[in-house]
Amino acid sequence: MKHIPRKRFGQNFLTDHTVLEAITRLVAPQPDDVMVEIGPGLGAMTRLLLASLKHLHVVEIDRDLVGRLQKTFRVDQLTIHQGDALAFDFSNVHVPVGRKLRVVGNLPYNISTPLLFHLAQFAPIVQDQHFMLQKEVVERMVAEPGSKVYGRLSVMLQWRYQMTLELIVPPSAFDPPPKVESAIVRMIPLAQPLACDLGALGKVVTTAFSQRRKVLRNCLSGLFTENDLIASGIDPQARAETVQLERFVALANRLPVDRRHAK
Ligand code: SAM
Repeated sequence: MKHIPRKRFGQNFLTDHTVLEAITRLVAPQPDDVMVEIGPGLGAMTRLLLASLKHLHVVEIDRDLVGRLQKTFRVDQLTIHQGDALAFDFSNVHVPVGRKLRVVGNLPYNISTPLLFHLAQFAPIVQDQHFMLQKEVVERMVAEPGSKVYGRLSVMLQWRYQMTLELIVPPSAFDPPPKVESAIVRMIPLAQPLACDLGALGKVVTTAFSQRRKVLRNCLSGLFTENDLIASGIDPQARAETVQLERFVALANRLPVDRRHAK
């Protein structure tokens, strides 16, 4: 029986083999890799990954799809974690000493931003991540200062990862086709992110971009003096979209500890 795609789970299944093969080439799975696929769906990518891997973990929320995967793949090949990837503890996947986890997925677009932030917690145990996302989201992730789409997502993820947009994928590659273009992003955790409290950085960046058109002296007046901005190398007349990651980090490091977390 044909599976009827569920909108609430962001189900747009990849059906274009050229695209599936291109993604597999980008991921370049090696037999002993410890890999987790988020949202395997009907298993199109799963099958290609397993052509190279000895074993694969998948996290899938939809029980019907889990039932199909159980019938399609052997248990010694595929470990199925039925549940919400947003609550999945990636540190529970066994990784032999000296190796790290690889994460892949054609992600459900409705939860992509919270999922990226959830995964960021596990960056120290991750080798790399390859995701299909809405193209516009990938553009925001990799945007540089000065770009109109440079914002909170760019700064927070660039603090943690080196990221590249690898491939643009048209709606026609999926069934049903999504309304927007998609893109593959490669994310490699940085060995040493700049020293900084993540709560402080999050607060500064969220506040700085909350009113993009305002100059930073005004946007950040509740948190910093003009001198704090200048001491962090930031022009108080500048707008958030022109400020480099290093400067935001310098500013976040000036935020008193008791002001770091509350919204
Ligand atoms: N990988 C498949 C493909 O490329 O054809 C399916 C991709 S589809 C865009 C997203 C998949 O993620 C679906 O299988 C959906 O059921 C699953 N999914 C949606 N929300 C999820 C969640 N919170 N946790 C785990 N899987 C989820």
